[in-house]
Amino acid sequence: MSATEPQRARTVPDPAAAGRAAIEARRARAAVKRALRAGERSARDVAERAWQEPHGPEGRLRVAEYFGSLRGMGPKRVEALMASLGIAPSKRLGGLGGLQRERVRGWLDAVDPSRRPRLIVLAGPTAVGKGTVAQYVREHFPQIRHSVSATTRSPRPGEIDGVHYAFVSDADFDRMIEDGEFLEWATVHNQSRYGTPRSSVQAALDEGSSVLLEIDLQGARQVRASFPDAVLLFLAPPSWDELVRRLVGRGTETEEERARRLETAKVELASQPEFDATIVNTDVAEAAREVVEHILAAEASPSATGAASGS
Ligand code: 5GP
Repeated sequence: MSATEPQRARTVPDPAAAGRAAIEARRARAAVKRALRAGERSARDVAERAWQEPHGPEGRLRVAEYFGSLRGMGPKRVEALMASLGIAPSKRLGGLGGLQRERVRGWLDAVDPSRRPRLIVLAGPTAVGKGTVAQYVREHFPQIRHSVSATTRSPRPGEIDGVHYAFVSDADFDRMIEDGEFLEWATVHNQSRYGTPRSSVQAALDEGSSVLLEIDLQGARQVRASFPDAVLLFLAPPSWDELVRRLVGRGTETEEERARRLETAKVELASQPEFDATIVNTDVAEAAREVVEHILAAEASPSATGAASGS
C-alpha cells in the first residue's frame, strides 16, 4: 500500500457524516427561525450575521423563510416583498448581493416587524433640560410618540392645555387616580401632582410606536415596577454648577421654589445608578440623538420578559 492511501481514505466522502451535518444545519436554521418568531432575535441581527458568515445557519436560511418568520408576514406578503426587493424566491440570505442587502436594510429601517415598541423614560434632575431634549426629539424624530401628562399646577405663560399638559383641578386628579387612569403619578417638588395617562400610552404601544415619557424620578421608579421592559434613561448635567446656572437662568421660579428644586435635584442626581443609561446634556441636539439611539437599540433588542409591555 502506498503512503498516500490513508490520506485518500480521509478525503473519501462519508455519506453518514454528510447526512448528520445536513440534519445539524437544518436544526440550526430552524432554531434561527424560532428565535425570530419568538422575538428573541431581531431581523436586523439575523441579516447582519448572515452577511458576515454566509455559510452559517443565518446565511444558509432562505430569504423567503427569513421574512416568513417575522411577525405578521404571511406567504403572500413575503412573495410581494421579495418581488419588490428584486430577490428571487430560491435565494439564501447569505447569497444576497450588495444592492439586495441595501434594499433589505432599507426595508428593515422602515418597517421591520420584529422591532418591539418600547416605553422609554427620560428622567433626571430639575432644570437639566429634559423638556428641551424631549421637545427636540418630538420635532426631529416624529416616529417616537410622547405622552401628555396631567398636572394640578397652573399653566405657565405660553403653555397650552392638552399640548404641554392637561391642566386639571385637584378634584379631577383625585378622580383620575381613583379610576386607575394613571400609569404612574407623583407629587413633584412637594407641590403639584403630575401623572401619565395609561390609555394613550398603551394605545401607542399597541399601534407599534415607542413612547417617550419625560417624568420625575418617583414616576420612573413606578414605571420600572409596572413595565419591567421599559428603558430608563437618565439625563445628567455636565456639572453641578452648570445645573445651578441653568435653574437660575430659567427665571421661572421664585427663590423659595428654586431652593426646593435644588434640594430635589441633589436627591435625583444620586439615583443615577438605578437607570439603564446616562446621557450627559451638554448639547441638546446631541443628547436628543443619543436618546433616539437608545430607543432604536431597545426596539431592535430581544425581549427580556417576552412581552412588549406589562402593567
Ligand atoms: P414642570 O412643572 O417644570 O413642567 O415639571 C416639573 C417636573 O415634573 C419635571 O421634572 C417633569 O419631568 C415632571 N413631570 C412632568 N410630567 C410628569 C408625569 O406625568 N409624571 C411624573 N411623575 N412627573 C412628571
